[in-house]
Amino acid sequence: MKFLNPELRKIITDCYPYIESLNPAQMSAVEAGYLESDENFIIAIPTASGKTLLGVLAAIQAIMDGGRVIYTVPLISIQNEKVKEFRELEKHGISVGKDPRTSDLAVMVFESFDSLTRFSWNTLREIDLLIVDEFHMIGEYSRGPVIESAITRARKLNPAMRIVALSATLSNMDEIGEWLGARIVEHDYRPVPLHREVLDTEMFGARDKNQVVLKILERSISEDSQTLAFVSTRRFTESLASYLADRIKKKIPGDLLERFDEVAERILDVPRASGSPPTSTCLKLADCIRAGVAFHHAGLFNRQREIIEDEFRRGNILMITATPSLMYGVNLPSRTVVIRDYTRWTGQGPQRIPVFDYEQMSGRAGRPLYDDIGYSYLIAKSHDEAMELEEYYVNGEVERTNSRLMENRDALYRQIIAQVASGLASTTEDLLEFFRETFYGYQMSEGPFSNAFGLDSIQYEIETATEFLIKNRIIYPGPSGLSATEFGILIAKSSYSVETAVKLHQFASEMDELDIYRLIYELAGTPDIPLIPFKGRKSRDPVRERLMEHGIFVMDAGNSEATAAALIEWINERTEYEIENAFNVYAASTRRTAYEASRLVKFFKRICEIQGVYGYTGKLDVLAARLYYGVREDIIPLVVGVRGLGRVRARKIVETFGEDLRHVRKDELKRIDGIGEKLAEAIRGYAERSCQS
Ligand code: ADP
Repeated sequence: MKFLNPELRKIITDCYPYIESLNPAQMSAVEAGYLESDENFIIAIPTASGKTLLGVLAAIQAIMDGGRVIYTVPLISIQNEKVKEFRELEKHGISVGKDPRTSDLAVMVFESFDSLTRFSWNTLREIDLLIVDEFHMIGEYSRGPVIESAITRARKLNPAMRIVALSATLSNMDEIGEWLGARIVEHDYRPVPLHREVLDTEMFGARDKNQVVLKILERSISEDSQTLAFVSTRRFTESLASYLADRIKKKIPGDLLERFDEVAERILDVPRASGSPPTSTCLKLADCIRAGVAFHHAGLFNRQREIIEDEFRRGNILMITATPSLMYGVNLPSRTVVIRDYTRWTGQGPQRIPVFDYEQMSGRAGRPLYDDIGYSYLIAKSHDEAMELEEYYVNGEVERTNSRLMENRDALYRQIIAQVASGLASTTEDLLEFFRETFYGYQMSEGPFSNAFGLDSIQYEIETATEFLIKNRIIYPGPSGLSATEFGILIAKSSYSVETAVKLHQFASEMDELDIYRLIYELAGTPDIPLIPFKGRKSRDPVRERLMEHGIFVMDAGNSEATAAALIEWINERTEYEIENAFNVYAASTRRTAYEASRLVKFFKRICEIQGVYGYTGKLDVLAARLYYGVREDIIPLVVGVRGLGRVRARKIVETFGEDLRHVRKDELKRIDGIGEKLAEAIRGYAERSCQS
């Protein structure tokens, strides 16, 4: 730590006691003058090599100099993780939080930072240092355009602000660095060396790839180590886990089995705690975990995913089978990583995953402090295929990272609306000037692959997009140039896609009467609702029939129809268990989806108001609450009034005592399953309050 100034060193040794010295990658940044400089920097070093600490060092330095810092990250899960980590700094008088108005160091997700650059210019202008974590996401379809546009706007509004970008290594770093006007520090240090290899079925005389994975699992049992296996779909995580669990169970020593059983019980406690029986997915998960293998995907309860992650870290799970989404977000290293599938389904059929994704998944191998080496195995069918994959992935170069700003129409629309609504642009020329300064604009007009028509093509894209927005009455050409309509301002202040907004606007203008089931069906068909997808190809008739009962006729049921049917059941107080059985869907994510739907109902309410329709306000508030709590209308006051009561117990109470609870005694309440002293007390308080009002 001798390279740090004494004050900085004191804070770091106090808050990060396990860090004894800077590692070579961190040293190379410090030696390049990173901490003294006010220049922009891109730090490009592998995963787990300690980028966060470099960000923290620059942040503390800036704050000690009287400055304020925003640390922006792509996902809420990462935001929470970082806030928790940075809170340690509060001992040294640095305030940490999520709001830049009240924190010296504010951790914000890309979306919120983008929103700050649209409407909170005073705050933005007080920021001295912007740290962009996971900066390589700039090439990702949905979040990339958000962060590149936000950075562009922020630089324009606050040119003195320093930018530090923390990134995985990208092949066209020079180009990106030129755009950002940044110095680049690259280093290939890894805290744990990584061995990467392609294995094939022929080497093991195996029938299929799963059998190779089984061999790896068997070896890791004998070596007492853990494995993370990546496959391409939710369904494959389950089928691989079941396959392995069936074959490995008998070979596991008894003391381990006991530990696995405990984890399985914790998994089953999640549905039990909400008073409903476990879904078949829960049962399958618990079964696999009894053999030490867990599957991990978006269709599980949040709490179950947390348990799996925690228990894996504690060494109580041998293997996790996961979809590639596990490589973002949570920090979950493992001694061994297996990549069974290197293709992914897209609109054009199966396609190879990028080398970049291979690197990210492989990079999870090797736990700092525990392992002296990490292993990454890609599995091929045949020996020939293995040779080819070795060339492509192990020796291959990471793809170029390109801006997706024009490819992602919705992002382009949203940025045009943002520029117009915030008053930064009132003509096509203004817009062109803005987009010319984005990474996209740089790539088209100045980067190594730019051409003479680059700017013309941006102009064409902008004009077409602007016409679309005018046609949909989101912006309008007034006497003094382009302005946003009230609808446009609503969109600019929301996080919703233009497609969603246009769809709901149209629905609002065409309806004669508010039909809440029809509205749910519309909501489920927007890109802003996380789907509750079918688990397999089994009969989809129950979904069609349920929708039909509510006057919605569909030819064929897809995932958004399934989502609509599940939400309808949810507000009629069916449990996830019942929903799963009725429709064969991943119902554990119902609560999350219903929460998003509830927020979207409020957005719809605003859209109605903009159209001058106020008659449905009350009905829409009720629907939002029903989605949020998963209840029928009559018990809304009870679940709102008694925190922590929940839908199941609230219904029990009303069934047992009726709606008027004034004369029900505490001991009577406590006879209901799951109601203890505290809840009984709260219910009494609620009953007294409601009789006064
Ligand atoms: P990434 O580069 O992927 O953001 P992190 O910043 O999360 O990696 O660092 C991975 C782990 O290494 C963290 O637990 C961090 O505290 C630890 N770490 C960072 N720098 C050092 C260091 N110089 N010595 C020991 N551990 C370190």
